[in-house]
Formats: sequence, C-alpha cells, structure tokens
Amino acid sequence: MRRKLVVGNWKMYGNLESNKVLLEAIIKGVHDYRNADYAVCVPTPYLFQAQAILQDTNVAWGAQNMSQFEAGAFTGSVAPHMLVDFGCSYVIIGHSERRELCNESDPVVAAKFEAALNDGMKPIFCVGETREEYESGLTEQVVARQLDAVLNRIGPKGLCQGVLAYEPVWAIGTGRGATPQKAQAVHSFIRNRVAHLDKAAAAKVRILHGGSVRVANAAQLLSMPDIDGALVGHASLVAEEFVAICRAAN
Ligand code: PEP
Repeated sequence: MRRKLVVGNWKMYGNLESNKVLLEAIIKGVHDYRNADYAVCVPTPYLFQAQAILQDTNVAWGAQNMSQFEAGAFTGSVAPHMLVDFGCSYVIIGHSERRELCNESDPVVAAKFEAALNDGMKPIFCVGETREEYESGLTEQVVARQLDAVLNRIGPKGLCQGVLAYEPVWAIGTGRGATPQKAQAVHSFIRNRVAHLDKAAAAKVRILHGGSVRVANAAQLLSMPDIDGALVGHASLVAEEFVAICRAAN
C-alpha cells in the first residue's frame, strides 16, 4: 500500500514574514493527519527558515531545483550536498517551468535525479506534455521519452527510490486541471511502463499528480488507483487550501 504524499511547490513566492505565517498555519493544520506524508518545496534562500520552523513536525521540506554537480565553477548554482546541509528530504527535478525556461534536457534531468539519490534526497521527478503535444495526441510518447531518460540511467530500482509527478503542462497554473479519469489513464500508463521492467518497483513508486490541484478536485483525483498524492503549486500558498488537500490525502 503506497502512502499518499502531498507536496507544495511555492515557486518564486514568499518572504520571511509571509513564510512564517504560512508554515505555522500548515503545521497546525496537518498536525493530526498521520496517515499521509506532507512536504513543502520552498525557494532556496528560505531553506534555513523552513528547517528551523518545520523540524520535529510531520511536514518535511525540500528545494525546487539543484545542480547535477557536487562542486565547481557554476555561478548561481546550488549543489545537492548544500540542500542536504539544510535538511532537505526532497528536491523537485525537471519541473516543466525549468525544462521550458532554462532548457533543461532529459539527460540533465536524469543526471539530477541520480545526484539527488546519491546525496540521500528523494527527487520529485516531473513529467508531462505541453498543450500542443496533448492536442496532437502525443501525451504517451512525450511522457515515455521523459521517463525513459531516467530509467535508462538508473533503472527501475533507482526510480522507485524517488517520487514521480505527472503534471500536464497545460494544466499548470491554469485552474483547469485534468479530469480524474484522464489523469488516471496517464498515471496507469507510467506505472505499466515501469512494470514492464520491474513489477515490484512499479508497485512501490509513488506517482503524484500536479496541475491545478485544488480543494475542489483533490479528493476525486486522490481516489484514483494510480494517483499517490499531489504536487500543488498556487494552492499551496494558501494555508487553508493546502491543509484541506492534505486532509483529503489523509
Ligand atoms: C506546479 O507548479 O507544480 C503546479 C502544479 O502548479 P499549479 O498547482 O499552480 O498548477
């Protein structure tokens, strides 16, 4: 039985004052929800704050990106071990905004996945098709290509040590998410592709859903057999919304 996981992706929002208010409200809200896992991925400068406020609670924290390298002349980059220094359990890898805005390729995303595991973090590995690809019927082809890049690098046993997130790009930030049935179909496709290589790994790996997950659709999405949690963007910035999604997972 896979335990559900709800992760907030704060993107580039927040400040010291608003973070404190939000984190304290989340801690209070999810304190008694013991049947699922919860985490927030905050902007890198606030990892120290997240660690200070969240340690000894049932809310984990993580980052939204990292370098695939451990050290070097990479101005502006952050190494995996630096995230570990601030207690990160998770790091988002291959978010569509980074794939699109920073040209992150499948091989780079796969290298980051492996680097995160090597440093003891769980990568949250995002896959998903653009609107154009969706409308051209290319969803499975695109998701398979993204998934295979990681599978070819670390195999199914490596993959299942991390977390997958299927986020149709056309659903992110639009308020119009995939229907539970459409989402389930792609989640099932992903799990079957892993099962083809390793049934145990496929049964173990958690596949989160992302893209306009809100209180209104969370319970239905989370009731699907291959949806093991949610990666939540905008709704994770509103404590009551995020806590309500966590309640649905619990
Ligand atoms: C995200 O950024 O990963 C995301 C799912 O965003 P939103 O929930 O705002 O669509």
